[in-house]
Amino acid sequence: MIQGHAMKTIGLIGGMSWESTATYYQLLNRLVRERLGGLHSAKLLLWSFDFAEIEAYQADGDWDAATRAMVAAAQALERGGAEMILICTNTMHKMADEVQAAISVPLLHIADVTAEALLKAGRRKPLLLATAYTMEQEFYTSRLKARGLEVMISSAPDRACVHGVIYDELCKGIIEPASRAQWNAIVDRAAAAGADSVIFGCTEVGLLLRPEELPLPCFDTTEIHAVAALDRALA
Ligand code: GLU
Repeated sequence: MIQGHAMKTIGLIGGMSWESTATYYQLLNRLVRERLGGLHSAKLLLWSFDFAEIEAYQADGDWDAATRAMVAAAQALERGGAEMILICTNTMHKMADEVQAAISVPLLHIADVTAEALLKAGRRKPLLLATAYTMEQEFYTSRLKARGLEVMISSAPDRACVHGVIYDELCKGIIEPASRAQWNAIVDRAAAAGADSVIFGCTEVGLLLRPEELPLPCFDTTEIHAVAALDRALA
């Protein structure tokens, strides 16, 4: 007998980098197994970019080309049957509004569900660890601030360190204990400056940092995003 479960098909725009898309894939499937048991697994479609192409648009500041690529991916996923879209990177939420406007299924915004998680936990002053684009441009922090969060970002040298480790190491699958130690020190400095939490605001951060080594509660956007998507897919 086939047991029917009304599970929505999730469309993932990934490959940015695939190191974290793999985490999404595993998490979504594991969560479905936990919730539905047996042989159940997630219904999903994956569009996985060649990250070198996307990174080149970012580095060149060619956000129009990046937006066209993101919109095309979202539309392809919708045509393929996706009933909800996730952009599996914080940075590429820069064009979330354009992507949402180009499709008729919902785009689940990573900053919205992250803000909800922080507020639910009673946190107000998070340190944001992310790419320079996400930390320094408005598109992400303004979304968090609009929900009442007082977002903290590190000093310029610390931001450069975080950004460099993301692109030069984590997105290439390189996990360096020395980088973890540097990032832990960045979190320590933020805690001393009054941060009450840390947002893992890049989907690869959880590959490096260990929450148990940090003095503040951690909010991993990859995990929060995947769980929120599944809640909606199974609702
Ligand atoms: N995955 C990262 C993020 O969440 C960075 C890679 C990218 O530029 O998309 O922002």
